[in-house]
Amino acid sequence: MQNQAATVVVLGTGGTIAGRSANASDNVGYTAGQVGVTQLLQAVPALAGAPLESEQVAQLDSKDMTHAVWRDLAARCAHHLARAEVSGVVVTHGTDTLEETAWFLQRVLAPAKPLVMTAAMRPATALQADGPQNLLDAVAVARHAGARGVVAVLDGRVHGARDVRKVHPYRIDAFDSGDAGAIAAIEEGRLRCFRPWPEGAALGLERVPADGSAWPVVEIVTSHAGARGAAVQALCDSGAHGLVVACTGNGTVHRELEAALVTAQERGVRVLRSTRTRAGRVIGVAGDALPSAEDLTPEKARVELMLSLLSRP
Ligand code: ASP
Repeated sequence: MQNQAATVVVLGTGGTIAGRSANASDNVGYTAGQVGVTQLLQAVPALAGAPLESEQVAQLDSKDMTHAVWRDLAARCAHHLARAEVSGVVVTHGTDTLEETAWFLQRVLAPAKPLVMTAAMRPATALQADGPQNLLDAVAVARHAGARGVVAVLDGRVHGARDVRKVHPYRIDAFDSGDAGAIAAIEEGRLRCFRPWPEGAALGLERVPADGSAWPVVEIVTSHAGARGAAVQALCDSGAHGLVVACTGNGTVHRELEAALVTAQERGVRVLRSTRTRAGRVIGVAGDALPSAEDLTPEKARVELMLSLLSRP
């Protein structure tokens, strides 16, 4: 069921979806974040005449995403989602950090309307550009009456913010929701829903400093053969407030690294264990020295820890 009359606001932030290449058959040697969001919408004839508004919030390659852009983006999303005539917001984004931005927006805003992130694996100038179809599908989700929360729409599927992961560096079908599976499929503009939409309590934008440099410093370290505790020490010495460890298997950590992390935790640095297996979750047991990030990837656990540190009284 779609609300055709309601306005959808499309916020541009850059990425490959807005990328340009000198050669249409070059799928890797392009520059991300070149084409404006208005032009991206003009490339989708099926959206002509639709009640759409657009705004350019940023124009970057999402590998270079900053906390300041996250804050600005969250503020613009909150502004438009609060407008009665708006059914949902679409954000065009790069694929590289889309899942981190999605989790940040879900935790801060937990919107009751759909906040739909979309992206592309091929630049706008490519022979096989996937951006226009993804954008059309994203607008359909933003108009869908039952949709809510932060989701990602790519390659005909709707993924929830908590589960979505980029799992391939090149394929057009590059995103997955792991064990949870996609929320819905989009077929010719219609949704076939499989499971519930993201829900949860919003932490609130007022907790998030406008100045990105005022955010807590949370870094990710990886446990691997030959891991050294010195890396943890160096990060703590450079001012880290929190550390996420991308663990082997079910949250196991090389003993050298674990000793350094436990010492850091005793000194007040917050530590979370995630798994580097890229699926599943860390199943903790009573008495674990270091807490589990459950099913959050190391990158999303980092967002979670930053927001948790910001929420501290
Ligand atoms: N580096 C690009 C970005 O994340 C990749 C993409 O969008 O596919 O902005």
